[in-house]
Amino acid sequence: MDINANEFRDIDPGERILMGPGPGSVPPRVLQTLSAPCVGYLDPYFFSVMDDTQRLLRYVFQTENTLTLPVSGTGMSGMETTIVNTVEPGDEVVVCVSGFFGARIGEIVSRVGGKVVRVDGEWGRAIDPDVVRKAVKGRNPKVLAAVHAETSTGACQPIQDLKGIARECGALFLVDMVTSLGGMEVSLDKMGIDVAYSGSQKCLSCPPGLSPVSFSPAAVQALENRKSPVVSFYLDMGMVSRYWGEERKYHHTVPINMIYALREALRIVAEEGLEARFARHLLNHRALVAGVEAMGLSMLVPEGERLPMLNAIRIPEGADDVKVRKTLLNDFSVEIGGGLGDLAGKVWRVGLMGHVSCMRNVVLFLSALESILRSQGVKTKGGAIEAASAVYAGV
Ligand SMILES: *Cc1c(COP(=O)(O)O)cnc(C)c1O
Repeated sequence: MDINANEFRDIDPGERILMGPGPGSVPPRVLQTLSAPCVGYLDPYFFSVMDDTQRLLRYVFQTENTLTLPVSGTGMSGMETTIVNTVEPGDEVVVCVSGFFGARIGEIVSRVGGKVVRVDGEWGRAIDPDVVRKAVKGRNPKVLAAVHAETSTGACQPIQDLKGIARECGALFLVDMVTSLGGMEVSLDKMGIDVAYSGSQKCLSCPPGLSPVSFSPAAVQALENRKSPVVSFYLDMGMVSRYWGEERKYHHTVPINMIYALREALRIVAEEGLEARFARHLLNHRALVAGVEAMGLSMLVPEGERLPMLNAIRIPEGADDVKVRKTLLNDFSVEIGGGLGDLAGKVWRVGLMGHVSCMRNVVLFLSALESILRSQGVKTKGGAIEAASAVYAGV
C-alpha cells in the first residue's frame, strides 16, 4: 500500500483555551522543554533530571515519601498502578463513589480480584463520613479508597475524616488526586494519605502522559509483604522503583521528553509557590461562580463542597448543550466539558486548572457564555462581569 505524504499537513491546531476537565492549556515554557534533545534512559544527565523531578514531586505532594515518581501513562495508569500494587485477590477494599472516577476505582479493584465494598454518595456532593464509618464497621479492609477532587461533578471530598476511618480499621488510605494536585492543598504526610496518584495534564499544566504516584512507608511495607506477584508487569512498583532508585535497573524506557516537560511544569509550580497557587485558583473560582450566579445560572455543587479548579454549571432551560460548547470553541477558541455519565446533558464543566486559571479567561468565558445564551434566546440576568470584577476588586 502506498500513500502520498503531501496529503498530510503540518500539525497546527490553532489557538485553544482549554477550560474543560483536562487537559488544560500548557504554558509555552513547558512545550519548549518538551522539544529538548532526547537522551538515553541511562544517560547521567537524565538521572539528574529524574532526581529533580522526584524532588519537585515530593514538594507538590508535600511528602517525604521515598517512593514518589511519575508512572509512564496518564492518570488512569496511576489509578491502576496504585490498585494493582496494593490489592491482592480476595482483599477487601472500601471504595467511596460519588462520581464517575470513584466508580472506576471500584471497577479496577474488582478486575484485580479484590472484594469491593462500595459506599455510594450523591453525585455532586461530598460523601458523609458517617456513611463510610457505618460501611466499614466490623470489617478489616486492606484499602480505603476515595477521590479527592471528583472531576465528573466538581465536588471536593474532605480527606480528614476518611483518614481517621482508615486508621481505625487498619486500612491503607488511597486517594485519587488527579485533579487536586497543584491546585489545592494536597499534603500527603499531614493528611495521612498512604497512596496517592495524579496526572500531568490537570493543575500541573503539562501535556497528558505521566501520572505522579506516591507511597508512604506503610504502603511500601504492604507491597513488600505481598503474597502474590503484581498482576501487571508494566506497573509493578517493585520493578519500576528499581529504575527510579539507585540501581537504575532497566524495566521499560521511560518517556524521556515527557519527564523533561513535567520537571519544567513542576518548576513553574515551585516558582509560584504552593500557597500563592492555591490562592489564585480559589480567587478565579470565586469570580467565576459570582459571574455565573449573577447571570441567573446555578452551580451543581453546594457552596462549601466545591472544587476551585472544576466548576459544574447547571445547563439552563432552553440552552442547547452541544451547540453552546461548539460555539464557544469555534467563535471564542474556548473548550469546556460536557457532563459525564448521569450528568450528561445536565451540566457544563468549566476547568480553571493551573495555567488556565486567570482573570482573562474567567472574564472571557463569562462574556462569551452570556452572548451565546442570548443568541439562543435563553434569558440571562446580566451583570456577570460586574459580579466577577467585584470579586477581583475584593469587594
Ligand atoms: C482525569 C482524571 C482521571 C483519569 O486520568 P486520565 O489522564 O484521563 O487517564 C482519574 N481521576 C480523576 C479524578 C480525573 O480527573
